[in-house]
Amino acid sequence: MTVRASAPAKTNVVLSVGRKRADGYHGLATIFQALDLRDEVVVAQRPAGAGVQVSVSGADADAVPDDHTNLAAQATHLMAERYDISPDVQITITKAIPVAGGMAGGSADAAATLVALNALWHLHLSRDALAELGFQLGSDVPFSLHGGTMLGLGRGERLTPVLSTGVLHWVVAVCHGGLSTPSVYREFDRLTASRNCGDPSVPDAALQALRTGDVAALGGRLANDLQPAALHLMPSLAQVLSDGSDAGALGGIVSGSGPTVVFLARDREHAIDLAVLMSASGRLRRVHAVTGGALGATVESTDDD
Ligand code: ATP
Repeated sequence: MTVRASAPAKTNVVLSVGRKRADGYHGLATIFQALDLRDEVVVAQRPAGAGVQVSVSGADADAVPDDHTNLAAQATHLMAERYDISPDVQITITKAIPVAGGMAGGSADAAATLVALNALWHLHLSRDALAELGFQLGSDVPFSLHGGTMLGLGRGERLTPVLSTGVLHWVVAVCHGGLSTPSVYREFDRLTASRNCGDPSVPDAALQALRTGDVAALGGRLANDLQPAALHLMPSLAQVLSDGSDAGALGGIVSGSGPTVVFLARDREHAIDLAVLMSASGRLRRVHAVTGGALGATVESTDDD
C-alpha cells in the first residue's frame, strides 16, 4: 500500500518571544498561519525488516538529509516505537517549502508522515493524538498538523483557532542561504540580554484585523521579535524588506526565524504583481504568490499496490 500526503508551510503573522526558559526553550505567543505552499510525502510499505529509506527531490533537495536525521524518518521511528510496529517504509519527499527558511518545512514533512503512517498502519489516531506525538519532534509540528490560522502559546503547541475573515494573499520571497533556528534564538538572547522582556503576547489589534478581514490594518500589525536577530545575522534581508515595501506591499516581515520574507497583498492580483516585481530584483532565489489559511497535513490519496 502507498499513501500520498501533503503539509503546508507556515508563517507567523505575529511572533512574540519571551525570555529563555529553564528548559532552554523560549515562551511564545504567536499567530500562525498555514500557507498554500506544500511539501508532498509518499510512504510505501517495504518488505519486513527492510527498515526506513528516505529520498528527497524538489526545491533545494540537496540541503535536506536523506538519512535517519530527516524529520520524516524520525517521525516514522517515533510512531513505530509507540505502536510497536516494524518501521519498514520508503518515504519519498517532494520539497516546495524553503529549507531552513523559517517556514517549518521539516515540521511539515514530519506532520505529513504522521498522517500518512496513520493511514498506512490503520491506526485511526485523532489529530490531537498525532499532535502530541509530533510535539516530541518539534515545536511547530502540532501546527503543521492542524493548519488554518491559530494562536500558539507555550512553545507554540498550545493551539486555539483564530477567527479570520476572508483569504489572505501573501508573497513568499525565498532568499539565498538559510538561517539555523537555534542560532537566531541565540542572537535574540544576545540582543535582548540587557532589556526587560515582558511576557510574550499577541496584540488585540492584530486579532481584530484578522477577525474583520481588514487586510490593510493587518499589514501594519505584522510583528516578529526574531526579526532584528535575523537581520543582524543576514543584513541583506533589510534590502528585501524595503524592496517589498517599495513595490507596494501592505506589510512585510521575516518569517519565523527567517531568512524567508513574506509580504501581505490586497488580493490575488496584487500578490501576483508584487511577486513579478520582487522577482525582477534578481536578489531572490524564488518568489511564490500563495494564499493563507491552508489545510494542515492531509492524506491526498491511498493506493493498494
Ligand atoms: P523551523 O521549523 O525551526 O522554523 P525551518 O523552517 O527554518 O525550521 P527546516 O526547513 O525545517 O527549517 O530545516 C531545518 C533543518 O532541518 C535543515 O537545515 C535540515 O538539515 C533539517 N531537516 C531535517 N529533515 C528535514 C526535512 N524533511 N525537510 C527540511 N529540512 C529538514
